[in-house]
Amino acid sequence: MIVGGGHNGLVAAAYLARAGRSVLVLERLDHTGGAAVSTRPFVGVDARLSRYSYLVSLLPSKIVRDLGLSFRIGPRTISSYTPAERAGRPTGLLVGGGEARTREAFARLTGSDREYESWQRFYGMSGRVAERVFPTLTEPLPTRDELRRRVDDDEAWRTLFEEPIGVAIEDRFADDLVRGVVLTDALIGTFADAHDPALPQNRCFLYHVIGGGTGAWDVPVGGMGALTDALAAAARDAGADIATGHEAVRIDTDGRTAQITYRTPDGEGVAAARHVLVNASPQALAELTGDTPPAPAEGAQLKVNMLLKRLPRLRDEAVDPREAFSGTFHIAEGYRQLATAHAQAAAGELPAAPPSEIYCHSLTDPTILGPDLVEQGYQTLTLFGLHTPARLFDRDNDAVREELLKSTLAQLDAHLAEPLADCLATDADGRPCIEAKTPLDLERDLRLPGGNIFHRELSWPYAQEGTGRWGVETRHANVLLCGAGAVRGGGVSGVPGHNAAMAVLEATAG
Ligand SMILES: Cc1cc2nc3c(=O)[nH]c(=O)nc-3n(C[C@H](O)[C@H](O)[C@H](O)COP(=O)(O)OP(=O)(O)OC[C@H]3O[C@@H](n4cnc5c(N)ncnc54)[C@H](O)[C@@H]3O)c2cc1C
Repeated sequence: MIVGGGHNGLVAAAYLARAGRSVLVLERLDHTGGAAVSTRPFVGVDARLSRYSYLVSLLPSKIVRDLGLSFRIGPRTISSYTPAERAGRPTGLLVGGGEARTREAFARLTGSDREYESWQRFYGMSGRVAERVFPTLTEPLPTRDELRRRVDDDEAWRTLFEEPIGVAIEDRFADDLVRGVVLTDALIGTFADAHDPALPQNRCFLYHVIGGGTGAWDVPVGGMGALTDALAAAARDAGADIATGHEAVRIDTDGRTAQITYRTPDGEGVAAARHVLVNASPQALAELTGDTPPAPAEGAQLKVNMLLKRLPRLRDEAVDPREAFSGTFHIAEGYRQLATAHAQAAAGELPAAPPSEIYCHSLTDPTILGPDLVEQGYQTLTLFGLHTPARLFDRDNDAVREELLKSTLAQLDAHLAEPLADCLATDADGRPCIEAKTPLDLERDLRLPGGNIFHRELSWPYAQEGTGRWGVETRHANVLLCGAGAVRGGGVSGVPGHNAAMAVLEATAG
């Protein structure tokens, strides 16, 4: 029995059904996918947006191969663009499009090759760590020492696993904008300062640079829903049953067999299972089993989905908007700006200049738009805002959402040659095609605790007290976590789903 049909629950279902087990997935919503879905959010408009998660890096190709998924990712030729103003003139940093071009872009912004060379060395180091750490994610958990031996690079270990990432960033880079671009990988979905001694920012950084052994973030062709649909099809083809509209409300277990009580629109039902895999959050798991829930993990991001009639022109005329928006477009993410935004939010205020990043899916993959929209040059925009923890929305979610959306878009407008509002498409009712989701919205719609996109703070990818062999074990022998809240969970990876399935297969082998 699998509680939750998010992408991880579906990965577990597909592996177990392919191994000949009898599998039933209970999903409380009327569709599968959890935070990995595509929807048409705008009335009468054929644009299927990846509503929540939008880029893929952490999904091992092994899972795609093992499950025979018909799912593809598209590489982005531009990695990022960061607009800036220097000496009163618009400029920016474009990373990607080949080595010579990137070197030149660094020189244009900073006046020398120094920052580019530091960049090459830094990402060379993280690339070597990625090659060594990524394959371990789908193996039993290594100990800390085993992982350290595997990394086999004392400097890299110290930089990424021991010292706050702010130390390395400040040692290695001099330019505030370059420092900020590096730091953002440590802050996506994580509310932290560069020097937080508890190192949540380092763990976030690690998960952002190890995916696929390269750290590349690619476009899911057809949108994130294409992945979920391929997983649901693989699970069903292998014989799994998927029951949507079924909410698990209680798990009773003696460690050998379990009883799951669930609710449907027609009433309550009970089912028995040898193993229960829980794709819902660790908080939800504790509520289901009657255990003490772990400390709440607050989310801190704003997600905005938009459809544009055309891409806006940039003030920095040296860069084509089609390139700038096809990579990650950083806004108000200078190093000092990020620190100020964090300090303001930690003090209970909305950041005065909210940092965010934007990317356009349809430039790499127009298949998510209906043919009419493609012909007319429509484009999608996805914005992910940082440093706005759930507590800031408590006083009035609707009012704070609106205020934050306005100030976030004003930061983008400062770098555009025309206001974004002029480029927004309208829906069948004449309303602008834009929707925003706060942490409280995500908690309500997706049951993400505190709106945390990873279910809980990301974990180190090695064994710690109580983490079990695969990082999915709980205090009940036959109840496992198979979602983002497991050790090595978080992100669209399928890793905890794979690992929970392996734990069940090992426990029942022979
Ligand atoms: C706005 C946003 C942007 C993100 N961007 C990215 C990105 O670009 N790339 C990336 O890699 N990651 C991203 N993430 C993170 C990533 O989406 C999640 O970590 C991942 O989807 C978690 O998958 P999951 O299957 O473990 O859990 P979920 O997707 O949370 O699925 C859990 C499922 O369990 C169901 N459920 C819960 N309780 C019950 C119950 N009692 N009974 C039955 N069903 C239940 C839920 O309805 C849900 O379908 C983003 C997340 C968000 C919210």
